[in-house]
Amino acid sequence: MAFELPDLPYAYDALEPIISQRTLEFHHDKHHAAYVNNLNNLVKNTEFENLSLEDIIMKSDGGVFNNAAQVWNHTFYFEQFSDKRDSKPSGELLNAIGSSFGSFEAFKDKFSTLAKTLFGSGWTWLIKKSNGSLDIIQTPNAQTPLTEGLSPILTCDVWEHAYYLDYQNKRPDYISDFWTIINWDIIASRY
Ligand code: MN
Repeated sequence: MAFELPDLPYAYDALEPIISQRTLEFHHDKHHAAYVNNLNNLVKNTEFENLSLEDIIMKSDGGVFNNAAQVWNHTFYFEQFSDKRDSKPSGELLNAIGSSFGSFEAFKDKFSTLAKTLFGSGWTWLIKKSNGSLDIIQTPNAQTPLTEGLSPILTCDVWEHAYYLDYQNKRPDYISDFWTIINWDIIASRY
C-alpha cells in the first residue's frame, strides 16, 4: 500500500502573504510530494514495504529514513496553520508554556532564537516530555523528535525551500511572521 501526499487543509492562498501560494505550490506539491514518491520507490519489495510511516522512521536509516521522516515532518508542519490570524494558546497549553518558559513571549523568543540560529537545513520543535513539561529542540536535516521518544507539538521548517521565494535570505523575518498563521487549536490538540 503506497503512501499518499495529504492535501493541504486550507487553500493555497490561505497563508498569504506570510507563506505565499507560490511557496506552497513548490513546498507541498514538489518537495513534500517528492519525499512521498521517493519513499514509495525506496520501500518497494523491502522489509519496510508494509510498515506504518512511524515504524519506518523508527527502524530505518539512510535514504529510507530521510524520506520517511521528511514525509512525516512536512505533514505535521502543514497541518498546524490556518487562514485565521494571530490566534493565541489558552487553557492547559498556555499554563504549560508559562511554567516551562516563564511566559508565552519568553517561549516565542526562545523558539525564534533557536530557529534563527539552526545552521543549515533542519527543524525547530516544541516538544512535550513524558512529565508534561515542554522544551524546544533543533534537529538537523530530516531528523525528527520521534526517534528520541519525544512528542512534538509545533514545528518550524527552516530549510531554505520553506521561505526563500518569499523572504530570500531573511530567515528571521519568516520566523517572526510564522507566529501569525499558527492554529493554536491544532497545537492544543497535540498537547
Ligand atoms: Mn520543507
